[in-house]
Amino acid sequence: MIPYGRQEITQQDIDAVVQTLQSDFLTQGPQVPAFEQALMAHTGAKHALVANSATSALHIACLALGLGPGDWLWTSPITFVASANCGLYCGAQIDFVDIDPKTYNLCPKALADKLAVAKEQGKLPKILVPVHLCGQPCEMEAIYNLAREYGVKIIEDASHAIGGKYQGAPVGNCQYSDITVFSFHPVKIITTAEGGAALTNNDDLAQKMSLYRSHGITRDQSLMTELSHGGWYYQQIELGYNYRMTELQAALGISQIQRLDEFVAKRHKLAERYNTQLANLPLTLPYQLPNTYSGLHLYVIRLQLDNINKSHAEVFRQLHEKGIGVNLHYIPVHTQPYYQNLGFRVGDFPEAEQYYKVAISLPMFHTMTHEQQDQVVNALTEILGQ
Ligand SMILES: *Cc1c(COP(=O)(O)O)cnc(C)c1O
Repeated sequence: MIPYGRQEITQQDIDAVVQTLQSDFLTQGPQVPAFEQALMAHTGAKHALVANSATSALHIACLALGLGPGDWLWTSPITFVASANCGLYCGAQIDFVDIDPKTYNLCPKALADKLAVAKEQGKLPKILVPVHLCGQPCEMEAIYNLAREYGVKIIEDASHAIGGKYQGAPVGNCQYSDITVFSFHPVKIITTAEGGAALTNNDDLAQKMSLYRSHGITRDQSLMTELSHGGWYYQQIELGYNYRMTELQAALGISQIQRLDEFVAKRHKLAERYNTQLANLPLTLPYQLPNTYSGLHLYVIRLQLDNINKSHAEVFRQLHEKGIGVNLHYIPVHTQPYYQNLGFRVGDFPEAEQYYKVAISLPMFHTMTHEQQDQVVNALTEILGQ
């Protein structure tokens, strides 16, 4: 089965991890700050905090921005559940902004309309989480301008988008957001097995996220309520978590990030090949927003079902039968049973639901060979009866 995504582990990666395994520190040593430095160097952000997952990074980002009961967090319905769950962890309420049917990202026009209504109702969100689906950056300048106008904070969920660019600058520089989050899950662009990061240009947010990442404990005298009792002394000043990344993971991340640009360039080559070879099939190919460079975590096609005498599910199943491990990103979050129990209904976000009825993620990983890609194209061509 050709998977929809997979990692590449080289001897250099293995050596980096083994060396760390044989070093003095398995956690809380020099590799984590070194990986954070590499992330800052790549993005240009002032601070980077790595965590044991992007989900944890989203949680500490929400906490640092002060999200709590009585607050609202808005995100896109077409995302992994973690983009919304982070708000629920903080006791906040969730709402969604429908997608743009061209980019599949949160639609700035829908956002503008919804903010205007929310303002009248006194229910403006504290935090908006735009998700760079497939690695394609959201229209951040428009989103940022709206957020400033209404006093909303922004966390970019860039789990798909490390290595991408917006207006020529790296995703993660936080020019149009308070915090940006990356994921290093193995299907993503670079991996630390499990892992994530939160980046920010704001010193106060960085300090808060650092506290929440590790039990709310500090050894910084300037944050303490009384003088240190001695060299052993620390204070717990917040309720934090243990969301730390290990040294082994950080060593893998440092090794992987050196190849990031190469990984993304190879994904672009594969995408161009798909674009050419699939051009005459009854499909809608990915749209690329001008002035953006996608991280290309995913390559999503939409079936033109009117021109295909099979259902979406049939096409999906037949691709699997031919050894093509396609996937679907994502089931609209508001239709998940947990979210329906919170009051959401099928029909609430029509563009997201329409996308879900026709979308398929084709295999996309930088080590995919042309032979593998041809297999995907041939299978799809046969199934669609061309
Ligand atoms: C993968 C993913 C996450 C969660 O990442 P983890 O590192 O697995 O916690 C969050 N949001 C999006 C959009 C993702 O794709």
